[in-house]
Amino acid sequence: MARVNLVGGAVVSDETLDVLVVGGGPAGACLGALLARGADAKRVAVLEPRRPGAINPSDLMDTRVVAVSRASERILTAAGAWEKVQGPRVCAYEKMCVWHERSAPRGPGALVFDAAEAGEPNLGYIVESRLVQTALLDAFIEAGGRIRQGELKSLSIGADSVSVETSGGTVSARLVVGADGAQSAVRSAVGLTAESSDYRETAIVANVVTERPHEKTAWQRFMHRGTLAFLPLADGSSSIVWSADDAVAAPLLAASPGDFAAELDRASDLVLGKSRLISARVSFPLRRLTAHSYVANRCALIGDAAHVVHPLAGQGVNLGLLDAAALAQTLVDARGEQEDFGAQRVLRKYERWRKSEVAFIGAAIDAFDRVLSHGSGPVSRLAQHGLAWVNRSQEMKRFFIGRALGVSGELPRAARRPAGA
Ligand SMILES: Cc1cc2nc3c(=O)[nH]c(=O)nc-3n(C[C@H](O)[C@H](O)[C@H](O)COP(=O)(O)OP(=O)(O)OC[C@H]3O[C@@H](n4cnc5c(N)ncnc54)[C@H](O)[C@@H]3O)c2cc1C
Repeated sequence: MARVNLVGGAVVSDETLDVLVVGGGPAGACLGALLARGADAKRVAVLEPRRPGAINPSDLMDTRVVAVSRASERILTAAGAWEKVQGPRVCAYEKMCVWHERSAPRGPGALVFDAAEAGEPNLGYIVESRLVQTALLDAFIEAGGRIRQGELKSLSIGADSVSVETSGGTVSARLVVGADGAQSAVRSAVGLTAESSDYRETAIVANVVTERPHEKTAWQRFMHRGTLAFLPLADGSSSIVWSADDAVAAPLLAASPGDFAAELDRASDLVLGKSRLISARVSFPLRRLTAHSYVANRCALIGDAAHVVHPLAGQGVNLGLLDAAALAQTLVDARGEQEDFGAQRVLRKYERWRKSEVAFIGAAIDAFDRVLSHGSGPVSRLAQHGLAWVNRSQEMKRFFIGRALGVSGELPRAARRPAGA
């Protein structure tokens, strides 16, 4: 028979988990690994229906890649996953070149961020999304965490714990975390509402080889009907993310590989010479989403379950990892103070911390999308000159580099640069 304990003022059975994380994507797996590690390890399970298979060294590079910031590198290190990510499939990028279609990528109108100028070895890493996820799930298991295969069906919130109905049985936990992506079932089950809007844009993602080397540089061109990025991959090829108005994207997706490559050459301004497709094209309709509240009693949302931003700044995974680190810190601190970490009052600290930061980043990204990708006439000219102006202003560049490196904003302990580094 299960015993009953009094923990932080709450009455719970010893069969009750501390935390059930619903969703083992990058955000959920990271929270699980951070909580399962260390002296104050919590009893955590991750509920995930589709655990990805391990990557074989001979596998072709996936088309879904993410730009991992330096702050995220530190969080992955704290979670025990960075050593599993590092290796021949990761490309550290040293520069970023952003230009407007009215300027030239190697001309005075382009905005260039160079890690060397900031005294850094690189600006971040381009990594397959699946590699980040599998490394975090493996680190979670190594730390004693348990993955339950299945999905959330329903949940019922009690005074001291939450009872969760899954496709594999019932689980009870003192806190349930929704890390189950943009269509979060946890968010709906708890009745947390979200505001969502359609960008009327589609992101086309594919891998290409280019005539010229990518120079370990992330290239991004803003056009009046979209944005095109070439992200450098470790094997010398590039991942393209082409976010285009739906009316532009539909024929691009329907075009033959040769015709698509010809359109890509026009849109890229041949910055890396001609391109050749080496993967299928994958498309994602782009929507923005913001949960009105990130927390309820005994429930918190992290990652895309709480917010979805436009991919043009490559921030989705980074924001999710920061949520995971901020929530883990909030829970550990609450336990240290003998507080009930599932109480809404405690969870509100996490919400206040992350919601304002995400709102700031989301608004900045949307402004870039409106002005740089969709401005016409005077707005477009302003955008063109704005990039050149930022390029000349050391202060503005430092601000943007700080953001790119993930060293500005209120960072959780796991994401902070060690003193003296
Ligand atoms: C085209 C494109 C390019 C992008 N590029 C970048 C980039 O360069 N850098 C970057 O940082 N971000 C990028 N992003 C965003 C990034 O991919 C997402 O923000 C990130 O995957 C969100 O992680 P997550 O863990 O919150 O959610 P997800 O990755 O969506 O994971 C959710 C998990 O929950 C599971 N799940 C779903 N429903 C249930 C259920 N009912 N029960 C249990 N489990 C469930 C799913 O199986 C999944 O594993 C890009 C996005 C797009 C569309």
